[in-house]
Amino acid sequence: MNIRRNIKKTIIKNIQKKKKKKKKKIIKKKKKKKKKKKKKYNRQYYLDNKEKVRRLTNEWRENNKERVNEINTQYRIDNREKINNQKKTKVICDICNSEITVVNLARHKKTLKCVKFQKCIIIEN
Ligand SMILES: [Zn+2]
Repeated sequence: MNIRRNIKKTIIKNIQKKKKKKKKKIIKKKKKKKKKKKKKYNRQYYLDNKEKVRRLTNEWRENNKERVNEINTQYRIDNREKINNQKKTKVICDICNSEITVVNLARHKKTLKCVKFQKCIIIEN
């Protein structure tokens, strides 16, 4: 009798656990949906009030220069490795096909080598 009761208890417990898991999943899904909706709303708000938002952020930046500096330095400290890796990644210039780092791409496009290539392409066309 006691064993049976124990088995029944464990079965009930398992069912409850499963139900809890399901509930958690549903809550998670709902939260995700809500987040998505909010993101969409925020994006729409930004698009509708672009000038106002830009003006306000610029104003905030002007008034909180120290805070902005603090945030930026903290970001640099926290993401030092990520930033270094980004600097090291190489890309291929779409004009002259030479390999350069991402950081130097703008500078490279002004070099004689790349400018000559651009001229060649224009002449060919
Ligand atoms: Zn180039």
